[in-house]
Amino acid sequence: MKATHGEDVHPGQSVSNGAAPSPNGSGVEPPVLGGPEHTDYYLLDKLLTDEQRALRQKVRAFMDQEVTPVINPYWERAEFPFELVPKLAQLDIAGFQISGYGCPGMSNVTAGLVILELARGDLSMSTMMGVHSALAMTSIALLGSEEQKQRFLPPMARMEKLGAFGLTEPAHGSDVVKLETTAHQDGDSYVINGHKRWIGNATFADYVIIWARGDDGHVGGYVVEKGTPGFAAEVIRGKTALRCVQNAQISLTDVRVPAANRLANVKTFRDTEKVLLASRFCVAWESIGAAVAGYETALAYAKQRKQFGMPLAAFQLIQYRLSRMLADITDMLCMQYRLSQLLDEGEISMPRVALAKMHYTERARAILADARDMLGGNGILLDYHIARHLCDIEAIDTYEGTDTVQALIVGRDITGFNAFVPAMPGR
Ligand SMILES: Cc1cc2nc3c(=O)[nH]c(=O)nc-3n(C[C@H](O)[C@H](O)[C@H](O)COP(=O)(O)OP(=O)(O)OC[C@H]3O[C@@H](n4cnc5c(N)ncnc54)[C@H](O)[C@@H]3O)c2cc1C
Repeated sequence: MKATHGEDVHPGQSVSNGAAPSPNGSGVEPPVLGGPEHTDYYLLDKLLTDEQRALRQKVRAFMDQEVTPVINPYWERAEFPFELVPKLAQLDIAGFQISGYGCPGMSNVTAGLVILELARGDLSMSTMMGVHSALAMTSIALLGSEEQKQRFLPPMARMEKLGAFGLTEPAHGSDVVKLETTAHQDGDSYVINGHKRWIGNATFADYVIIWARGDDGHVGGYVVEKGTPGFAAEVIRGKTALRCVQNAQISLTDVRVPAANRLANVKTFRDTEKVLLASRFCVAWESIGAAVAGYETALAYAKQRKQFGMPLAAFQLIQYRLSRMLADITDMLCMQYRLSQLLDEGEISMPRVALAKMHYTERARAILADARDMLGGNGILLDYHIARHLCDIEAIDTYEGTDTVQALIVGRDITGFNAFVPAMPGR
């Protein structure tokens, strides 16, 4: 696998850096990500089945061979690589842990490893798949009727239909529980009005799950199908993170949705949180994948790049930094394997997932910043992939609840005090 340059390519056309100057003047190509042996320091692989190892390897190979060589120019142009969707579909991973309806029914660890590998390769791709599988499909799987699952999930599992998840609004991010979009029942349909913001995949999705407040004041989920009049999604420009993901500002003006598209088992906002818990678990794996990319690249580069007559890897300070990265990754992987077991056993809770998301994302940001520094000037070039990951991790830090919000969820759990809403002065 070769690192790539940011020059323009057309979709479908790979770029290689055959003519690139080597960083050492030694004819060696820019470093690439390493193998699993680099990061699996406590031999967690031994806990996996052959099937799990094979699937992980399949996803890793896909990311290394099909995505990494082409993704940087898309990232620069802030375009989504549609050419990769049919290839992604062939991996048969859409739907992650969902069973039946053509979905792969993975265990929590298996799904996590798949997400880790997607994220290690590219956070825009893992995010696109996360929105499609962990948010949109999971909403339907957890909260839809049998008829709705039969209708929506099989084409989504085949990735013939893509999903989006519209919860956040311009005025309500962390306090999205106060969302203002309305769904008024009118005969056998609902009429939706309001605005959504930051909604990934929304410019091209076939099914957008819109969360709106019904006549009874409770939040419901509505599957808005592509082409429904009154639905307008405008891409948010100027993003410095996840540039391939098409995040949209959505306007809903008298959008009429058949009653059959209201997710049958949503009663209140609390049901939304069931989806968010499942997807936050996936986002935690994404952060580990990003951290792995940072560490592997820094290690490969340090072995290759010479200064003062020696490879960087020979210097004590570099070894210290690499060891710290590996300790963090090992810590995260051990935590996440245990969290996956808790999820298997039904012992999961939002605070437990929040702790993971908060901790891993913070560590991944630190590792990527350190890796970027260890690549010197090359660290800011897209060619070496770290710059893209470093920018992208900023969005992972924010979506699915910011670092602060995760801490507030954990803080409320361990202290018993709800610090989300401070008292106004004088009250
Ligand atoms: C790239 C990207 C993709 C996204 N994709 C989707 C999507 O597909 N679907 C979707 O529905 N949403 C999506 N989101 C929205 C995302 O979930 C929100 O951005 C996130 O919840 C934070 O909301 P906000 O941006 O409005 O920030 P705000 O809520 O305005 O927060 C701003 C700052 O205030 C802090 N803060 C907020 N409340 C408190 C408090 N009580 N105490 C202390 N500090 C506080 C926050 O931690 C943060 O630092 C996406 C966002 C991004 C950036």
